Amino acid sequence: MQKTKFIFVIGGVLSGVGKGVTAASIGRIFKNYGFNVSAIKIDPYINVDAGTMNPVEHGEVFVTEDGDETDQDLGNYERFLDTNLFSTNYMTTGRVYLSVIEKERNMAYKGRCVQVVPHIPMEIIARIKTAAEKTKADVMVVEIGGTVGEYENILFLDAARMMKLDNPDDVVFVLVSYLPIPSHLGEMKTKPTQHAARTLNNCGIQPDFIVARGQFELDQPRREKLAFFCWMQSKEDVISAPDVESIYDIPAVLEKQKFGHLLAKRLKIKLNKRNNSAEWDKFIIKMKSAKKKIKIAVAGKYFATGNYTLSDSYISVIQAVKHAAWSLGAEAEMTWIDSDDFEKDSKKIQELANFDALIVPGGFGTRGIEGIISAIRFARENNLPYLGLCYGMQLATVEFARNVLGLKDAHTIEVNTKTKNPIIHINQLQAQNVSKNRYGGTMRLGAYDCALDENSKTAKLYNMKKISERHRHRYEFNNAYREMIDKAGLKVVGINKEKDLVEIVELKNHPFFVGTQFHPELKSRPTHPHPLFVGLIKTALK
Ligand code: GLN
Repeated sequence: MQKTKFIFVIGGVLSGVGKGVTAASIGRIFKNYGFNVSAIKIDPYINVDAGTMNPVEHGEVFVTEDGDETDQDLGNYERFLDTNLFSTNYMTTGRVYLSVIEKERNMAYKGRCVQVVPHIPMEIIARIKTAAEKTKADVMVVEIGGTVGEYENILFLDAARMMKLDNPDDVVFVLVSYLPIPSHLGEMKTKPTQHAARTLNNCGIQPDFIVARGQFELDQPRREKLAFFCWMQSKEDVISAPDVESIYDIPAVLEKQKFGHLLAKRLKIKLNKRNNSAEWDKFIIKMKSAKKKIKIAVAGKYFATGNYTLSDSYISVIQAVKHAAWSLGAEAEMTWIDSDDFEKDSKKIQELANFDALIVPGGFGTRGIEGIISAIRFARENNLPYLGLCYGMQLATVEFARNVLGLKDAHTIEVNTKTKNPIIHINQLQAQNVSKNRYGGTMRLGAYDCALDENSKTAKLYNMKKISERHRHRYEFNNAYREMIDKAGLKVVGINKEKDLVEIVELKNHPFFVGTQFHPELKSRPTHPHPLFVGLIKTALK
């Protein structure tokens, strides 16, 4: 295929109904038919990237190989498509405006008056096409964040409309909407979706398909009603997407309604007999047959907003644990422990004995840190399998320095700038970034090589001497303490040779105690679980 086909996924009624997972599932369907698929996420806010946003409000920051701090949906795409995405697969309003303004300053518009329309939609289209070229995609899924009718995404919708006008056979629109069942009625309502379709029409876009999300399956009368009132070509173009047990079931749910064929027909793509689904099918069978329960505690601080607990801030960690557990025939049950609780009540720490493993994920700042350190101590002293991710690695070295090396005031200078034992410190460049408030996109970001100590458990798990993993942090392990911790049993088993930085520590004489300066969870895929998570779960299952 020479020309990229574009599938725009647009939201209606409310956010958080699984638009990203639907987009990823559509992509997976085409991948299973043997196509090269890629995906773009468009976020309508002014932030240039997701790196400066609070994870409780916005969810996890997903870091790409090339070090872009993007939306968590890119993680869904990478997991479903089993492919790496890049900075070009992500854009925000801020990013688009920034480049238009920069071009204007450089006379790139050759003296013309630069206007919101057409220059902003043109920049958006150029970016979508660049991503398609870079990834050599046969099929590019483009998810427009937010919901129709929001002022913020109007220019993105306009860009999509213009692309369809230019190449009607290469662009389709999928409206992912929600059908509520008000408790006093007990009936699924189609009207909000009708309004969403009408609002989309006001933007000059007629949806080709509607994916009707809801608690239950869409029944025939409602399917017909939506098809009629939303001007669909046929009632088959309304796809039912009820709640399911696992997000990974969704490609099959959509395919049962022949969504792949319907999309392909509209885009004038031949599906032929190409079939690439063996790997995915095998994974689904494995997932469905996982029985053994395993209990994992995750201690961190980005869990609560008001009365709700948002595990979205750690979505890649959750998925990595699940992938690894399924691959070993187990179902992971994760419990979120707000590390503040350990500080309020020191006896609470004993509850960790009820778990099969502990994970301390990435984090920033000072709140709940002493609680996390006590949890790590418990894991170290009680042979509880432990995996520390980024901050979880840094704090494991702090704990070790304090309680094994006897350096009582050891700390990361992120929390205590005055400590005499800054086991985690900051380099000059990063110190300048912080002092000048240069926070956006300045951390150590993206993929870095790491050489492994061949005799380590970690190297055996990876079955490799040299690996590459993704980073997102500002502080680093202080090499002045390297020999000391290594000699005392917290082995430095992974280093970045170019910058001479500690990347992995591993405790001697412990069933599993590993800390990584990078984020292995970002590279776990359902079809390729990450070796370190597999190592953790395998030990926990014993
Ligand atoms: N706060 C730590 C740092 O900036 C760790 C970051 C993280 O866990 N992602 O270095």
